[in-house]
Amino acid sequence: MDHPFLKEAFPILQALEAAGYEAYFVGGAVRDLFLNRPIHDVDIATSATPNEVKTVFFHTVDVGIEHGTVLILLKGQSFEVTTFRTESAYSDFRRPDDVQFVRSLEEDLKRRDFTMNAMAMMSDGQFIDPFNGRQDLNNRMIRTVGSASERFSEDALRMMRAARFASQLSFELDMDTRQAMKEYAPFLSHIAVERKLNEMDKLLAGLAKEKGLSVLIETGLFLFLPGLSGQKKALAQIAARTLKSLNADQMWLLIAFEVADRHVTDFLRNWRMSAKRIKRIEKGVRTLRRVRAEGWHDILLYEAQIEASVDCAEVEAVLDGRESKSADVISRWQALPIKDRDELDLTGSDLMEWSGKQRGIWIKECLVLAEKAVVNRKIENEKEQIKEWLRSCNLL
Ligand code: ATP
Ligand code: MG
Repeated sequence: MDHPFLKEAFPILQALEAAGYEAYFVGGAVRDLFLNRPIHDVDIATSATPNEVKTVFFHTVDVGIEHGTVLILLKGQSFEVTTFRTESAYSDFRRPDDVQFVRSLEEDLKRRDFTMNAMAMMSDGQFIDPFNGRQDLNNRMIRTVGSASERFSEDALRMMRAARFASQLSFELDMDTRQAMKEYAPFLSHIAVERKLNEMDKLLAGLAKEKGLSVLIETGLFLFLPGLSGQKKALAQIAARTLKSLNADQMWLLIAFEVADRHVTDFLRNWRMSAKRIKRIEKGVRTLRRVRAEGWHDILLYEAQIEASVDCAEVEAVLDGRESKSADVISRWQALPIKDRDELDLTGSDLMEWSGKQRGIWIKECLVLAEKAVVNRKIENEKEQIKEWLRSCNLL
């Protein structure tokens, strides 16, 4: 219980208890504490209603009061405190129609997705685990709280969460949980793409991505994910590789390279990624195609720039099943005579002055030729040398 992050949240539990309410650490933080994983956010559950919570603390923010969540600001940190609640009637398969506050912790734990996420801990270290989450943690098992079919038909996102926990924790699915996922996979079509993307990103950043992807394939969840439904074989090939070294964007690069053919932009857009992210991944795919066709060379590195080059080097290593050569790629990029057009010792004005010609498309053409000659080390990046060279090519 002396995890530094939990310690910081201690005063919150104590203040709620002192005011006569129950308060517990719940959810991911308790799970991660037992797994010795880094804890990145602490969820606190309490018997106090949101308004009662607000009377106990000085600085609070209503972040999701209709769901019972109040944010508490304490010593520069923020903590989410959520009133015990149940959720009734999921008529649209994604969000409960109605949130009801309840006074019992057990009711609250019952609505949670998996046994490992349905444990609670008190300030004195007392541990509450009505669904044997601890045992499932020890057995590295993902198991729904209660009937898997019911839980997935209530909220289909939970199936994506199961796949991403399989990847993040390298856990297995309990048999009933797996079976229900096969059956209820089509319910995933009711889930907003943004929420699927959020889980997919976590899956693709996990330790055991191969496992997470295999879950998507074996349960048929992939059939209800943008651009993946016809791609069982390609996905299985990806899942058969060693993917540990890749981050989420490099994984997207690999997936888009393997499944999206000429439709990378559409593929990524269908996943509702931000324009900036699409641009970055797209550039990676374009670069990777060139690398596969042309091999690495200086002009390619120069045009791709360092980020896309490193991403490609990492993905290429996975495709070829060998160690990454990104260190070589970085040193080669660093050794380039220039890294950017701005560094070229030549401007449009130089060209007009030397030739006496008017502004025109020829300027751009000369700049590109000089740039290539410098990058390829035909000439040095030095104004007079460039001038000489342009003259010798009859360009001035
Ligand atoms: P992470 O480490 O990614 O934050 P987490 O388990 O904390 O994992 P959150 O999305 O932060 O996941 O949710 C906090 C807790 O809320 C979960 O541990 C779980 O108890 C509950 N929970 C979250 N999403 C659902 C859901 N769709 N259905 C039921 N319970 C959920
Ligand atoms: Mg969390």
